[in-house]
Amino acid sequence: LNRRLAEFGTTIFAEMSALALSTGSINLGQGFPDTDGPEEVREAAVRALRDGRGNQYPPGPGVPELRTAITAHQERRYGLTYDPDAEVLVTAGATEAIAATLLALVEPGDEVIALEPYYDSYAACIAMAGGTRVPVTLRPHEEAGEDGVARRRFRLDLDELRDAVTDNTRLLLLNTPHNPTGTVLTRAELTAIAELAVERDLLVVTDEVYEHLVFDGAEHVPLATLPGMRGRTVTIGSAGKTFSFTGWKVGWVTAAPELVTAVRSAKQFLTYVASGPFQYAVAEALALPDTYFDAFRADMLVKRDLLSAGLAEAGFGVFTPAGTYFVTTDIRPLGESDGFAFCRALPERAGVVAIPNAVFYDHRDAGAPFVRFAFCKRTSVLEEAVGRLKTLA
Ligand code: PMP
Ligand code: GLN
Repeated sequence: LNRRLAEFGTTIFAEMSALALSTGSINLGQGFPDTDGPEEVREAAVRALRDGRGNQYPPGPGVPELRTAITAHQERRYGLTYDPDAEVLVTAGATEAIAATLLALVEPGDEVIALEPYYDSYAACIAMAGGTRVPVTLRPHEEAGEDGVARRRFRLDLDELRDAVTDNTRLLLLNTPHNPTGTVLTRAELTAIAELAVERDLLVVTDEVYEHLVFDGAEHVPLATLPGMRGRTVTIGSAGKTFSFTGWKVGWVTAAPELVTAVRSAKQFLTYVASGPFQYAVAEALALPDTYFDAFRADMLVKRDLLSAGLAEAGFGVFTPAGTYFVTTDIRPLGESDGFAFCRALPERAGVVAIPNAVFYDHRDAGAPFVRFAFCKRTSVLEEAVGRLKTLA
């Protein structure tokens, strides 16, 4: 293994899912739902397969039906308009979108600023592109919500972000709603980021795969909608999270034509194309009425509340997420401080698997006491997990 990749080992998701299997534990580690997405979308995939749509190499940028559906969805939800021919690229999940974008835009030696904790593939892809990652740490913070109730959230320090920018900074890599903390960047925060990007002439790559999973009146604001950003933003989306088909690996990039062309230059040599028949099915999924997206969010909200309340009762410090389907917890109230050791022992102790947030940090000490649980599971599974975790105290 070359030096660029050696530090990354096996992804924590594979390691923890294997541990769940080998110990028969409830897997609240890797983020995938335990029920499939809408029947009509599965039927659409079957129809595409049967009708021979996408069984051979689809077009490089993605099938026209899907590119059009992606732009229609962004226009309908956010008033953002993109040209489906020049400004959209379909990828093998958001994972490939991230890889192709970084490989296309980063020169060796360029600095890439990423919010820490960061999704694990960011670090590996920055390294593969020869870039240097510059983490800006989201810090735990307690603030009163609109209802006056104190809530804990991981917050971006805008001064720290500003200080991280140097003459070598090539791009900012954002993620909102944020995995693993559940933070949703506010319009005010995003506006400040946009101003900084314009001032320092930076590109911004924004991973918005959890765009439909925002709760408690939080608003998902696509960065590309803010002044000065449309031309310098690469937005990444995915069908995996929104439609509960993580195995289909249909993702996409929307950006200005020259940025999409650049990303496509890398993508063509990674997979060339992917997900043939599923592209047609996702095109139909994106056109589902708002009632689908609302019901999906409402369902996940019930699960969030169930797991958050259960974790609090079990003695964890809980950061109730404003978005995503993950809850980050603080294990110090349980008398623990090392999330790695805690997660390695948890299957034996309680028959549950979780993810140590420390793997998403360069500053491992800053992430040490935090552990992530996924709640995209049936309520009976969450109830069972909570029951088991209560035996820890
Ligand atoms: N970005 C984030 C923040 C994620 O949590 C994930 C996992 N779904 C991905 C990207 C990868 O998405 P995909 O499964 O579409 O490759
Ligand atoms: N995005 C998922 C998570 O954060 C995992 C995806 C993967 O296994 N690479 O849990």
